[in-house]
Amino acid sequence: ASAWSQVAQGPPDAILGITEAFKKDSNPKKINLGVGAYRDDKGKPYVLPSVKEAEQKVVQANLDKEYAGITGVPDFAKAAALLAYGPDSAALKEGRIAITQSISGTGALRIGGAFLQRHYPGAKTIYIPTPSWANHKAVFSDSGLEIKQYRYYNKDTIGLDFDGMVADIKAMPKGSIILLHACAHNPTGVDPTEEQWRAISDAVKQGDHFPFFDMAYQGFASGDTNKDAFALRYFIEQGHYPVLAQSFAKNMGLYGERVGAFSIVTASPEEKARVDSQIKILVRPLYSNPPVHGARIASTILNDSALNKQWLGEVKGMADRIIKMRALLKENLEKLGSKHNWDHITSQIGMFAYTGLTPEQMTKLAEEHSVYATKDGRISVAGITSENVGRLAEAIYKVKG
Ligand code: PMP
Repeated sequence: ASAWSQVAQGPPDAILGITEAFKKDSNPKKINLGVGAYRDDKGKPYVLPSVKEAEQKVVQANLDKEYAGITGVPDFAKAAALLAYGPDSAALKEGRIAITQSISGTGALRIGGAFLQRHYPGAKTIYIPTPSWANHKAVFSDSGLEIKQYRYYNKDTIGLDFDGMVADIKAMPKGSIILLHACAHNPTGVDPTEEQWRAISDAVKQGDHFPFFDMAYQGFASGDTNKDAFALRYFIEQGHYPVLAQSFAKNMGLYGERVGAFSIVTASPEEKARVDSQIKILVRPLYSNPPVHGARIASTILNDSALNKQWLGEVKGMADRIIKMRALLKENLEKLGSKHNWDHITSQIGMFAYTGLTPEQMTKLAEEHSVYATKDGRISVAGITSENVGRLAEAIYKVKG
């Protein structure tokens, strides 16, 4: 017998289950709104032209395949920090930001969790929103942090439970770690307004709490990378010293290349140097050093001014298509005579929309209309196209009215 006879069968991944059911469905008009990856208006995966061009440049440069340093490709990390913190960042100019390349956003979150577990002087508990990206709990608890939650989504308004959120922040023990989605909250698509972010920053400050930003969608939310970085930059201006997880999966469409970064805003270059040394000590036994190919592509895009400009246009193109699909879905539902208010479809932002549909209605959508998405009522707007939006609206109208 092997050593594994007592290993329990784990539950399947919720999203993969949807893909399975979708594949089995023989309806030629079936729609998959489960996966969180961008699709073009034909429903096809999209490789950004700027990425193709950058990749050509990387290949033509004929670089060797030597190991990167522990913290990755330096030109990539530098440019990633500039993208997130902005050219006016005092912390960046003063050399106070420690940054390392990571295995996309997930890896950045994991390094962050492990760093806080090892070095954060306060309680090793992280507060995440209810709901949050399904992987947050697992990533942070596997990093050795305790997970608690704060109110975020109000199912009655299908919007932000702002009062609940602020009250929960105020009730946290002093010095608590709080995870914030920088923009395009997953799964709800509900973001605080700039005014609400200001109040959230105040509440975090009052409690002497520690902000951990997860920014997996910079540029992908509004189409503007600066606008999407508002919360992060505002917090720093207000005197917070956050940590940040960045992903280039969505905004560059580099999903499988696993390109990301983890950074820490420190108080001085001297402190940064000490923090840097500990990041290296932490990363070395995890995976020694990160893969170089995707980071070279991202670095080429970020550091070449013509390609950078082109990329920003392509990011905006993706964001705009999603915004347009939201408007079309709402318009179609209204045209069908739906009595419900669908304003949340267009006020939400990013890849996902929280429809407000119940698990029963979502089951009906799948079984009777071949429309597949998670039971929490979340749909990936990136999976909607000019061609399927009409049929999608009809299906939603039939199950909800
Ligand atoms: N955080 C959030 C909120 C996300 O939605 C995602 C992607 N689904 C990630 C982090 C990380 O994704 P990746 O590891 O592919 O960069």
